[in-house]
Amino acid sequence: MTISRFDIHNHTHYSNLRLVDCTVRPRQLIDRAIELGLTGIAITDHESLGGHVELDRIQEEYKDKYPNFKIVRGNEIYLTDTRDKGQYYYHHILLALDATGHKMLRELSSTAWINSYFDRGMERVPTLKSEVEAVVGKYGQGHLYASAACLAGEVNHNLSQMIQAEQIGDTQTANKCHNNIVNFILWCENTYGKDYFSLEVAPGRSDEQLAVNSRMGNLAHAFDLPIVIGCDTHYLRKEDRFVHKAFLNSKDGEREIDSFYSYAYLQSEEEIRENLKGTGLDYNELCASSMKIWDKCQYYSLAHKQQVPQVPVPDFPKENKGSHKYDTKKYPTLDYLMHSDNPQERYWINYCQEQLEKKGLNNETYLSRLEEEADINKVIGDKLDTCMFAYPIFLQHYINLFWECGSTVGAGRGSACSGLNHWLLNVTQLDPVVNELPYWRYSNKERVELGDIDIDLAPSKRELVFQKIREERGQLGCVQVCTYGTISTKAAVKVACRGYRSQEYQEGIDLDEAEYISSLIPSERGFLWNLSDCFYGNKEKDRAPVKNFISAVEKYGGLKDILLGIEGLVTQRGIHASGVNFYDEDPYKTACFMKAKNGAIITQYSLHDAEYCGDGR
Ligand SMILES: [Zn+2]
Ligand SMILES: [Zn+2]
Repeated sequence: MTISRFDIHNHTHYSNLRLVDCTVRPRQLIDRAIELGLTGIAITDHESLGGHVELDRIQEEYKDKYPNFKIVRGNEIYLTDTRDKGQYYYHHILLALDATGHKMLRELSSTAWINSYFDRGMERVPTLKSEVEAVVGKYGQGHLYASAACLAGEVNHNLSQMIQAEQIGDTQTANKCHNNIVNFILWCENTYGKDYFSLEVAPGRSDEQLAVNSRMGNLAHAFDLPIVIGCDTHYLRKEDRFVHKAFLNSKDGEREIDSFYSYAYLQSEEEIRENLKGTGLDYNELCASSMKIWDKCQYYSLAHKQQVPQVPVPDFPKENKGSHKYDTKKYPTLDYLMHSDNPQERYWINYCQEQLEKKGLNNETYLSRLEEEADINKVIGDKLDTCMFAYPIFLQHYINLFWECGSTVGAGRGSACSGLNHWLLNVTQLDPVVNELPYWRYSNKERVELGDIDIDLAPSKRELVFQKIREERGQLGCVQVCTYGTISTKAAVKVACRGYRSQEYQEGIDLDEAEYISSLIPSERGFLWNLSDCFYGNKEKDRAPVKNFISAVEKYGGLKDILLGIEGLVTQRGIHASGVNFYDEDPYKTACFMKAKNGAIITQYSLHDAEYCGDGR
């Protein structure tokens, strides 16, 4: 009988944002965990929540097929006391046990990124212990589970130092390390709660790992704490090690601590048993402890209906009960709006009415058109559970701001021009009644979604506009959307050749040869074939395997696997050319943030992922 096991510490390619680190895609990791018979798996990238929406989608897709398999979202943070340079940035695992726990992760992660800085050539994103205390204080214990992490964690690192100090008779250092361990464990128990913290071991046979693992049983006993296994997956299977190595080698100057990664793959039961041998640790007991954490992990989804962001509006008083400015038969929705409890709705109708009067258009043609638009907005808003009337008001506010910033504003592109209310609110500059533009082209009751309104503004004023909006809404009130850059087909060839090592090619394959190999990749309408099509062909696209490419690659044993292993890996973060999200008072309700290379604050979720979480654009 196999023993139920949940693994709490694993990485995906979202760990590559600041360093070259991991060759695993989220779906591969989950499929492998299921194949190995695990009951669940936690994904804990290096200070990144960027993959969490993708995990949410996989969770939805798998929940009927594998009802007992849990996909748990966490983060491997850097936990410190200060943001001083030159210090040790301890690793620390946090798992979200429920939706509140995930919100806590979003807050902590965003804070870490917003305060990031460079130290010794690396971008540093530590979380302060005081920040963890504050977030747990705000939301309460029981939503986060913490684990002591790998050899770079505060417990394991100090334990390792202590063992080394003992061996050379340095009692002073040994005592100091001992105290660090005690203080840290007490801090964790206090902060997270006694049942929400565990020690962690990685199954591995390096001298340091074996020494630490051998002492972990005593430590657990002394503090009455559980120990769990964290495979700390950085590549999928043992045999993928060389692909991962090539990936790390491809970047100059980055450290490769070979022993650190020797066992960093998702191990099977047999492999773990083998790697724990001689440490006194009992596999069954460690698994039972992991299942206690698994029990605490609840199902939640990050998906939310999209909300229309709002701006404050001048208040128009409600129309008195029993009095009706509009004919209730002909204009029931306009009448409803006059009596609405929602100030956004009252503003919409009053402002539009004022404009009609000013323009001398307060007649049946225009009023019935306005009624039609109001009716559609109300129906869609009810279905989406948001206020659709707030949307053009929001735009009106910002278009006025664009003009104030000295930007010219385009007349409004696309179907938004067909909105009479858009014209009355100055969002567009075209009378759709005179121009015979039917409103259904922009919005109708069958299409239950926020319509897109494209507005052009002067690019030179973009920064000023952002600055003005942030003055109004706060730093996180208006945030540019991130993009994730992946290794393209051509780059894969370059990276693989640079990182390739063999007896004959100890420094990698030279650049000319890499260029030659990439020149053999066919392209179609300006797009290169992907590597899988080159090697195996693609019947649907009528593509046959590319013989000369294959034979050029096969001259180097293993190169093919490296190429296929790294193509498409996420390695970079960037700023979306036009996507900007708006957030109300509590941006962490749906979002989390990081910094782009140039220091700009950006979202951690890409455009479609942010939309999935309900962010307003
Ligand atoms: Zn770590
Ligand atoms: Zn790790």
